[in-house]
Amino acid sequence: MQKKIIDFSRYSSIKIGPKVEVNIIENGDIIPKNSFIVGRACNLLISPTPPSISMLGKDFDYIKEYDDILEVGASVATGRLLSYVKKNNIKGLEFISHLPGSIGGMVAMNAGVKEYETFNILSSLKTDDRWIDTKDISHGYRYANLPGVVTAVRFKIQRGFDTRLQNTLSKLRKNQPKNPSAGSTFKNPKGEYAGRLIEAVGLKGKQIGGMAFSSVHANFLVNLGGGRYSEAIELIELAKDKVEAKYGIRLEEEIKIVSIKYKALKESISV
Ligand SMILES: Cc1cc2nc3c(=O)[nH]c(=O)nc-3n(C[C@H](O)[C@H](O)[C@H](O)COP(=O)(O)OP(=O)(O)OC[C@H]3O[C@@H](n4cnc5c(N)ncnc54)[C@H](O)[C@@H]3O)c2cc1C
Repeated sequence: MQKKIIDFSRYSSIKIGPKVEVNIIENGDIIPKNSFIVGRACNLLISPTPPSISMLGKDFDYIKEYDDILEVGASVATGRLLSYVKKNNIKGLEFISHLPGSIGGMVAMNAGVKEYETFNILSSLKTDDRWIDTKDISHGYRYANLPGVVTAVRFKIQRGFDTRLQNTLSKLRKNQPKNPSAGSTFKNPKGEYAGRLIEAVGLKGKQIGGMAFSSVHANFLVNLGGGRYSEAIELIELAKDKVEAKYGIRLEEEIKIVSIKYKALKESISV
């Protein structure tokens, strides 16, 4: 298996993280157990002390069509897939417009917008060299209970890319900040919006060091420049505590915190 040095302060969408050696998995490699799989790092907060990290290489960066099936390798970027389905008049994936990441990350997060979610249109996925019907995988709002690293996925092809739907969903992005972020920090609690709760406890725009809850959309933790992992964690814990104290709701992170010492750091921060 090949190794590569990745600087996560450049690679990740939130521009935080160390420079570390990662495993690059290609066809035929045994996927290491106890290693955290990273796609495009658009939903991650990577600590200065991450566990072992693996990423899929170029062998999994392919798109092919046969019969009425679209097969996509898990390291394909969402932007590339969107261009492909648009060009080939395939419908169902319009919602991935402005949803940054890889196909593997999209599946693991059951990423989506409003009622449009990855699992709605996915027919099967490949893990440990076998194809599994997505009906056999439990999933829900921003999670999927995957049995392992996903290397490819299949969609049933239906023609008719819906440009109007793409435009409508793109317009929803207008209230999102332009600064580096990892998308929504917290999942929306049932019947509520995490952003509204953060705002209601006075944390919209709250800044610690280089990190802040965006003044554009409070559920986005943004890096205003030189933001650090510990500052992000401090803001996350502050929001959880304040929202719980006022509303009795414990916010749950949507972003994934990648650290071997997360618990210890959490305990060392008093907010
Ligand atoms: C500006 C911005 C806007 C966003 N808007 C949205 C939105 O509207 N809706 C939404 O749902 N998300 C949104 N996100 C979050 C992000 O786009 C999605 O979660 C995306 O699917 C992450 O893909 P990734 O490849 O970057 O995954 P990563 O961030 O690298 O990883 C995310 C999770 O997926 C797992 N994973 C990655 N690859 C694999 C694999 N091959 N097999 C198994 N598990 C894997 C990782 O272990 C991790 O648990 C946004 C992010 C940003 C920065």
